[in-house]
Amino acid sequence: MATMDEQQPLHILFLPFLVPGHLIPIADMAALFAARGVRCTILTTPVNAAIIRPAVNRANDDALRGETGGALAIDIAVVPFPDVGLPPGVENGTALTSEDDVSKFFRAIRRLCEPFDRFMAQDRPDAVVSDGFFTWSVDAAAEHGIPRLVFLGTSVFARSCNESMVRHNPVGACPDDDPDAVVSLPGHPHRVELRRSQLADPKKLPIHWAFFQTMSAADERSYGEVFNSFHELEPECVEHYRAVLGRRAWLVGPVALASKDVVARGTGELSPDADGCLRWLDAKPDGSVVYVSFGTVSSLSAAEMRELARGLDLSGMNFVWVISGDDEPEWMLEGFAELISPRGDRGLTIRGWAPQMLILNHPAVGVFVTHCGWNSTLEAVSAGVPMVTWPRYSDQFYNEKHIVEVLKVGVGVGARDFGSNLESHRVIGGEVIAGAIGRVMGDGEEGEAIRRKATELAVKAKVAPEKGGSSYDDVGRLIDELMARRTFR
Ligand code: UDP
Repeated sequence: MATMDEQQPLHILFLPFLVPGHLIPIADMAALFAARGVRCTILTTPVNAAIIRPAVNRANDDALRGETGGALAIDIAVVPFPDVGLPPGVENGTALTSEDDVSKFFRAIRRLCEPFDRFMAQDRPDAVVSDGFFTWSVDAAAEHGIPRLVFLGTSVFARSCNESMVRHNPVGACPDDDPDAVVSLPGHPHRVELRRSQLADPKKLPIHWAFFQTMSAADERSYGEVFNSFHELEPECVEHYRAVLGRRAWLVGPVALASKDVVARGTGELSPDADGCLRWLDAKPDGSVVYVSFGTVSSLSAAEMRELARGLDLSGMNFVWVISGDDEPEWMLEGFAELISPRGDRGLTIRGWAPQMLILNHPAVGVFVTHCGWNSTLEAVSAGVPMVTWPRYSDQFYNEKHIVEVLKVGVGVGARDFGSNLESHRVIGGEVIAGAIGRVMGDGEEGEAIRRKATELAVKAKVAPEKGGSSYDDVGRLIDELMARRTFR
């Protein structure tokens, strides 16, 4: 007979990092676990709670209506944003405007340890899924005897690259003055070679580097790791991560496929122009539109924007371009306004939040020009849309390798420079951008092979989270393991 303790649903606390690219998949992941009868709480601050609330409300509405049998409602535990001297309402990585803001923000991140600790003591969840950026949560969870699962919003491929960098520091072995030197990442299941300029340089970024090391050490001491990915996407990496690096890993994605919040995704409001955008796409032939977005935190310099505009023009294709920035752009080319006017009707620009999931899944979209953020990558994979890759920093250069060389569902524009500063990037010419688009969308053998692969991969992506799929099974295995652990606690 089950004990009282066994009858209580499993309770998982989610602690997302405070940027959309981490909050969104955590909200989706909570919905996915809640649909399997797990009690889920997301601990975050007021502004960030507002970002994920639409996704949570929709998941909860479904649970109430009984559409997902046995689903439980998700709670958001809202805690004050620590007072570190940031202006009121500045609680998210996208709102930071200076280095000083960034260091205050990270001070606030450390201070979130206090409400986390109180929650652990009072509510005693069965496990915590903590973003890897909260390195302190490994000790805090251990003090309460609660297993910490790490989530970093990236792939196993990229995590294995990172581990190679932290363990072997291959950049350190390179000649100092040659940005084009080829760096091989040892101990990775794939042959991964990048230019020195495409990697985080420990000498130039000592603080980042030290943080990577702290993060890696914290992750190694954790109970395991959950990934927004699926086994069929990266089987060699999963095997490597588990067998060679000795990490426990559960692949539960693509989590966006579990989302009922495909339009709002990460905003309090619906995308203002979702309907207009879809109507515009409806009028275009299948596979004829280039979708361009650089995610929520990356942007391009005016010179890069100008070349991108030229590249879109030269490609001869229709396009939807999500643009962040001012109304009177200094990059605007003569003739470009005509392209995006109702008369020219070649392109649509979206300012602010785009309904990315809806756009990627529209049959008119033929290619995604992307900065290779992992969520965007996986959303494109799930929609069967091939990519033109244009990485900027973070894990994006690893993701590009994965997309172009391993999965073979994209072509790179030839980005060479790792960095979050706009000045750190050499400008890529419009002809090159148009060339990459043409290679993916054109009639040649290369484009056909890429498009075929993308279609095949999308089928696998859709199967993974469904009953009997690999991610569905991984979720079940993790739930069972945590449940069994409770019996022995
Ligand atoms: N996103 C969106 N509309 C936008 C910009 C972004 O829906 O206008 C979503 C996108 O679908 C993805 C996330 O925001 O889920 C961005 O995450 P990603 O990892 O791709 O990039 P990041 O912003 O973290 O660099």
